[in-house]
Amino acid sequence: MDDLIGPGHPLYDVLRVPAQPRYRDARPKAIARCASVEDVVEALAYARQTGMHVVPRGGGHCFAGRSSTDGLVLDLSPLNAISVSADGLATIGAGARLAQVYDVLHRHRLTIPAGCGPTVGIAGLALGGGLGLLGRRYGLTCDRLVAATVVLADGSVVTCDEQRDADLFWALRGSGGGQFGVVTSLVFAAVPSPAASRFVLTWPREQAAAVIAAWQDWAPDAADDITASLTVTPAEGRMFGAALRPHLLDDLAGPAPDLDIRDGLSWPELKRSFSEGDSDDDRVITTKSEFFRRPLPSDTIAELLTHGCELNFTPMGGAYNRVPAGATAFVHRSERFLLDHAGADAEAVRRSWNAAHPHASGHIYPNFPDPELTDWAEAYHGSNHARLAAIKHHYDPERVFHFPQSL
Ligand SMILES: Cc1cc2nc3c(=O)[nH]c(=O)nc-3n(C[C@H](O)[C@H](O)[C@H](O)COP(=O)(O)OP(=O)(O)OC[C@H]3O[C@@H](n4cnc5c(N)ncnc54)[C@H](O)[C@@H]3O)c2cc1C
Repeated sequence: MDDLIGPGHPLYDVLRVPAQPRYRDARPKAIARCASVEDVVEALAYARQTGMHVVPRGGGHCFAGRSSTDGLVLDLSPLNAISVSADGLATIGAGARLAQVYDVLHRHRLTIPAGCGPTVGIAGLALGGGLGLLGRRYGLTCDRLVAATVVLADGSVVTCDEQRDADLFWALRGSGGGQFGVVTSLVFAAVPSPAASRFVLTWPREQAAAVIAAWQDWAPDAADDITASLTVTPAEGRMFGAALRPHLLDDLAGPAPDLDIRDGLSWPELKRSFSEGDSDDDRVITTKSEFFRRPLPSDTIAELLTHGCELNFTPMGGAYNRVPAGATAFVHRSERFLLDHAGADAEAVRRSWNAAHPHASGHIYPNFPDPELTDWAEAYHGSNHARLAAIKHHYDPERVFHFPQSL
């Protein structure tokens, strides 16, 4: 292979490090830079011949380090071409990152519902679901997927959709990250790129309990065209998001001491505004999360506020929940919200998660994997697990693609 990078190569220390700081010490035997389907086929053949463990890497953000290995990393970042057809289908190379996706699609007045982190990989995000500010309106990123091209463990190349290799296509929509093969491109039914209002409301920390109580009763049931996330830090409570119709913000004008609303932003501008000022954060942060179908009681909210963690609430509902649980591999279609506990003190994060856990649904977002879970099959895949296990056996019988908690 031409682009096989091993220790000693000048690029090795640049390319081996994933975006997730916890895994920065991982030292693969080699990194294959893949710029085409043929490169992926060749790299998988090399892994087979040498017996190396192989993992695909898109944006490298996996919270459980699943795109790192001591074997062979397939760096898909050169495979990042994006094209748009006249009927609004966007074909996106598996190495593309979200900021690039929004910018290129916007030139065609289009976008897809997807997440906020500008360097998050489209493949990792879409294959595990994909939550974002247009999700309550249009569903998960994977709900807009109409086809994908995949290199399987034996080197064969398949393009799957509702008609061709339909089981594989089903499995890729919500449980596909690193499980069945290496996806090289994804085709999405794009949606109009909206102009939108961006809002940030800030409260002093003393009001956090009341804000959480009000948010959990309102945000999951709000109109599809408004998505309001809530972050509570040791310093303040901050509700932020996007409204596709400005009048939806009228009701917000009262309660917050500090209100920042910017109307008429293009979608890429709005997305960028939420990562402005973010520097490369190389702190090792522990995160644990869970989905909830009912509100947290007030005594639990009070306890959560004692552990010193950042609490990130993401609203579900809307279009996310209008897809049946078995229609795609993403089973979490009855949830009201996701709560993520984050902090540098892993013990405090565990205590915070334990306090909320009795009220949770027991389901976990596959893109927020938690290496400490014991009942991971039920937590990530629920009633879809048996079908997923059968599909795994069919497409990757030797479990070439594996990681702790893989199918
Ligand atoms: C800063 C930040 C912001 C985030 N924001 C959001 C958000 O707004 N919404 C949301 O839903 N999630 C969000 N996430 C979570 C994110 O969806 C996951 O971390 C996702 O797995 C990242 O994908 P990646 O390609 O960057 O990571 P990687 O680590 O490269 O990949 C993740 C997994 O997918 C596999 N994989 C990658 N590429 C392929 C491929 N081509 N074929 C097969 N398998 C592949 C990897 O092997 C690994 O198992 C965020 C994470 C971070 C760190």
